[in-house]
Amino acid sequence: MHEKIEEDKKRLEKLAMIDNVTQLGTRHNLYETCRRTIAEQPANDDTQFGILFIDIDNFKRVNDSMGHRYGDELLKTAGDRISNSVRQGDLVCRIGGDEFCVLAFGLKETKQIEQIADNILNALRIPLFINSKQLLVSASIGVVTYPKHGSNVEELLQHADIALHKAKFLGKNKIHLFSSEMDIKAKNDIALESDLSNAIKNQEFTLYYQPKIDLVSGKLVGAEALTRWNHPQKGLIPPYQFIPFLEESGLILVVGHWVIKEALRQSNEWRKILGRDIGIAINLSYRQFLDPYLFEKIETAIEDTQIPPHLVEIELTESMMMEDFETHNKTIEQLKSLGIQIAMDDFGTGYSSLAYLKKLSMDILKIDRSFVQDLPKDKNSMEIVSAIIAMSHKLRLKVVAEGIEEVEQHAFLKDNLCELGQGYLFSKPLPNDQFIQLAKDWEKNKKPLP
Ligand code: C2E
Ligand code: CA
Ligand code: CA
Repeated sequence: MHEKIEEDKKRLEKLAMIDNVTQLGTRHNLYETCRRTIAEQPANDDTQFGILFIDIDNFKRVNDSMGHRYGDELLKTAGDRISNSVRQGDLVCRIGGDEFCVLAFGLKETKQIEQIADNILNALRIPLFINSKQLLVSASIGVVTYPKHGSNVEELLQHADIALHKAKFLGKNKIHLFSSEMDIKAKNDIALESDLSNAIKNQEFTLYYQPKIDLVSGKLVGAEALTRWNHPQKGLIPPYQFIPFLEESGLILVVGHWVIKEALRQSNEWRKILGRDIGIAINLSYRQFLDPYLFEKIETAIEDTQIPPHLVEIELTESMMMEDFETHNKTIEQLKSLGIQIAMDDFGTGYSSLAYLKKLSMDILKIDRSFVQDLPKDKNSMEIVSAIIAMSHKLRLKVVAEGIEEVEQHAFLKDNLCELGQGYLFSKPLPNDQFIQLAKDWEKNKKPLP
């Protein structure tokens, strides 16, 4: 009886320590070994150990498309290759799905662990055959060392995970060594992210408006709505710091809907205050563009505010159009049936494909700031910009130049028959009351065109 219990205990211990798919160590094993190593390390010993956090980039696709049996085979092979790339005495574990960890002992310098990481990437890169099918895999690796990057196993693994994400972000097949700045950034990001849902509840978003100027008549004819987050502690936060989080979490649908309603409401107010029409342009994210309720949302906002639809403009970017081009153009045509206008934003930063542009039912093209910035000093930019304008006109598109900061840029664009312009030369994006004041002054010619 006693012997039986001892045997069971050993079997359970083995189960807890050894992964039965790969016969490598488990997560539990990694934690235990790590804790023991830290506890046993003499205080005056300056040798370090390191953790390599490895993620097989395309494992999920193999598992989904070829089935679990193939998935398991892939894990086994990858595990073998990792084991063959490390030094004797290092511990290799599978700590979950397609994630492996190597505990590398007795390091004298960081270079050594980077060498091991290199060996692993090279070993995994060799095509592998599973059931006579050839598979190409790649991996990303995050690296930390003890004691530099953490004082306990939890902290080390958390930092290794941050480094791994950075490696993935930089492109597949990459190694990234953790640094403390990454931790600060990750913590800031997490703080911002958790503040975001409150921001929606507490209505902390606000719209700024940048005037759009008719380059020929010099009149202020419209505005682009640009979202800001008015953070209770951090103050005004620009869109590039929070839009990506909104997009990732799907909250962009909520905030984007508010932007549509608020921008239309506000611009319709301007008509009453100023006694004339002012156009309003709204930026959309890809998620919003794919939203099956987008049409309804815009339609309802137009009905509720009674704004003449031709004053409403939706800005999309080239990169949104690249996949599933035909379906996307149908969405554009459906939106246009509301009587609104569609603009291609940031033209020149992506594919700048004329072939696509020809097939899309756009009304307006916005030349990206990067081209305008080099005008008129850079000959190349001059040629590109005048070609874009000429071609747009052939396609019956109106052209807006973004980021006009200098008088010479304005002159060049005007000479090349660009219809509209935006930029600091005229005005930065402004809060609503300042925008209204500017529009009034502009009309009275208090701020004549340069
Ligand atoms: P965008 O659509 O290209 O907007 C123009 C950006 O250029 C704005 O930055 C504006 O402040 C800036 N800008 C305008 N004139 C000048 C100039 O003369 N010089 C320079 N250096 N910059 C100028 P902002 O407001 O920070 O917005 C950045 C981006 O965030 C926008 O780029 C847009 O893509 C996105 N965004 C803003 N609001 C929204 C929104 O409500 N929804 C979505 N999906 N995206 C938004
Ligand atoms: Ca825009
Ligand atoms: Ca733009």
